Amino acid sequence: MRNQRCALTIVVFLLLAMPALAATKAIKFGKLWDGQKVIPNAVVIVDNDKIQSVTANGKIPAGAQLIDLSRFTGIPGMIDSHTHITYYWSGAQGTGPRNQPPRNPAVTVVLSQENGMKALEAGVTTLRDLNASNGMDLALRDLINMGKLIGPRLFVSGVGLHGPRPGSRGGGQRGGAPAPGLADTPENAKMATEEAIKAGADWVKVFGSNGGFENVNGDQTVSYEAMKVIVETAHALGHKVAIHSYGPEGAKAAIQAGADSLEHATDMDDATIAEMVRKKIFYVPTIDHNQYYVENADDVYHFAPGSKENLQDYIRRNYATATKAYKAGARMVVGSDAVYNGFGLNMRELTWFVKMGMTPEQALKTCTTNPAEMLGMEKSLGQVAAGFFADIVAVEGDPLADVNVVIKNVRWVMKGGAVVVDKTKPGNRSN
Ligand SMILES: [Zn+2]
Repeated sequence: MRNQRCALTIVVFLLLAMPALAATKAIKFGKLWDGQKVIPNAVVIVDNDKIQSVTANGKIPAGAQLIDLSRFTGIPGMIDSHTHITYYWSGAQGTGPRNQPPRNPAVTVVLSQENGMKALEAGVTTLRDLNASNGMDLALRDLINMGKLIGPRLFVSGVGLHGPRPGSRGGGQRGGAPAPGLADTPENAKMATEEAIKAGADWVKVFGSNGGFENVNGDQTVSYEAMKVIVETAHALGHKVAIHSYGPEGAKAAIQAGADSLEHATDMDDATIAEMVRKKIFYVPTIDHNQYYVENADDVYHFAPGSKENLQDYIRRNYATATKAYKAGARMVVGSDAVYNGFGLNMRELTWFVKMGMTPEQALKTCTTNPAEMLGMEKSLGQVAAGFFADIVAVEGDPLADVNVVIKNVRWVMKGGAVVVDKTKPGNRSN
């Protein structure tokens, strides 16, 4: 009797503790692009945070919560593979992104949710975030995974590894110990890699060259030898490496060193591109990022005169290099390089990819199945399929006819089985 009552208490407790998302959901789409193909009149059954089944004209199980999105097209939750979510700016009058009052890192972690929310509203349910100080990205990732903060799934690098920084005395030494991320020698590079991974980084990010904001000088800053040690150390510990290089020398070194992904990179020669293709290294050109800087150069960033012209010249070379790489067979991936008020524009890169010759469907793979594979998550992200995380987006229109549909017409977003954005009802739509 006592045992029975105890068991009953446990059952009641479990029922009460069950989160609201535990109910089975049945989502109807007029059309679904599941990451591979189109399924008309699709019914997606979601249990907790996973997709249970996807069928055409499927039955709605008794007791399931019906979400009727038959007016819309379903696509997998999108992945933005290069962001800086902790680069937060409120837009307050009299401040700029790089002219903000000092803030405790913990405050920035909480505020960064706003960037994450803008990404979710753009249909982006996963971010690979590449560089943050003070463990802010690690904290944000963990709090989101614990369900304490809302945001996209994060794969983060912690502090990016870098060469000697101008102005840092003794090559960035700090009381005898190297500054966080210092990779000026192979020895320091090894130590910095181990430290980043020990701190909890998913990926190791390397700033292999100059370049950022209005600076498009792509001079290499981390040696091939250091890059090679970083890649070997990270791989031995089961982690992957993303190497940033604005210019061709750093890119060549990154590819020779065996990086898992190459970020930015202009002016690569044919031999370098061929090696990248042969080694199946993912290429994240982030072309639209500098277009965003051009658009915000005067009012937001107050860049020096001439900066816009430099950025435009960089964009031209970035696009030409990316086009050449795509035509040579490189595995292309969308990265917005979003910072500050760039969140929400995450998928604009797709227009550049279509311009270089991809069909909208090929372009959609660069923000779904390709990055899922890059992340080693090809069995759980990037598709709307049984067993995958229930990361699903509803868009208005046909994304396979016009890629702008996924950039501008996101109406509803589910992440891990929970509806995080709903603009399907008239009145709660802002775009
Ligand atoms: Zn970046």
